[in-house]
Amino acid sequence: ESIYSVRNVSRRYGELAALDDVSLEIRRGDWVSIVGPSGSGKSTLMNILGCMDSPTEGIVLLEGERLDKMGEPELATVRRQKIGLVFQQFHLVQHLTAVENVMLAQYYHSIPDEKEAMAALDRVGMADRATHLPRELSGGEQQRVCVARALINHPDVILADEPTGNLDEVNERIVIDFFHTLHDAGTTLIVVTHDAEVAAQGGRQIILEHGRIAREAADVASTPTK
Ligand code: ADP
Ligand code: ADP
Repeated sequence: ESIYSVRNVSRRYGELAALDDVSLEIRRGDWVSIVGPSGSGKSTLMNILGCMDSPTEGIVLLEGERLDKMGEPELATVRRQKIGLVFQQFHLVQHLTAVENVMLAQYYHSIPDEKEAMAALDRVGMADRATHLPRELSGGEQQRVCVARALINHPDVILADEPTGNLDEVNERIVIDFFHTLHDAGTTLIVVTHDAEVAAQGGRQIILEHGRIAREAADVASTPTK
């Protein structure tokens, strides 16, 4: 069963096709790595999958719903209900503490629950920093709070753009292990990364070049069993 169906999608900026006739099926529970050189369209694809941008041509379905037909308010609802985003541009709210930032994401979805928010921070090794403001945290610590925030609502799909970009080896391991736990629980993961080790965690690697899917590689070792 496909969670995402992307059919003949293009995203044009004037003459430039940031995405050029891309078709892609992503099954529920897949772990897909998106790789490719700078400017190949990775962020454009993630923004469309993440309900932050719309294609100029083609069809995008998420769980059978036409994202390409939706305007911003509808897209925002889908984003909050179904998708966990770990995007660098999706900053923490500066005047709220780490735990409050996680609870804000809960608020948009259901009812904030401090115990749950603390548990999520604990999963990424940030429980002891819960009452700190973002500016009191290092880049890597903020990144881990963003991971906790993205996961708090148990989204069907996690979209992560360079989720380990700011992290040292120890914290990269924490995040990768957490992704494995989520994947084992059935969450769909779509991860843009330049890190070959992170990319290899996924069962599929989609290689983008010039806005097109140049090829796809399967990593047999970590192909999901269910
Ligand atoms: P990647 O994430 O792989 O580095 P992007 O998706 O950011 O690639 O960009 C793909 C192409 O689209 C690039 O040539 C980029 O310059 C262009 N592009 C992206 N966003 C815009 C925009 N808002 N306006 C004009 N061109 C853009
Ligand atoms: P804005 O009001 O700036 O448009 P939103 O209302 O969409 O932002 O989101 C409120 C807060 O929740 C922001 O801090 C944002 O970063 C975060 N957020 C929103 N959607 C998601 C998501 N799908 N995953 C993770 N964080 C999100």
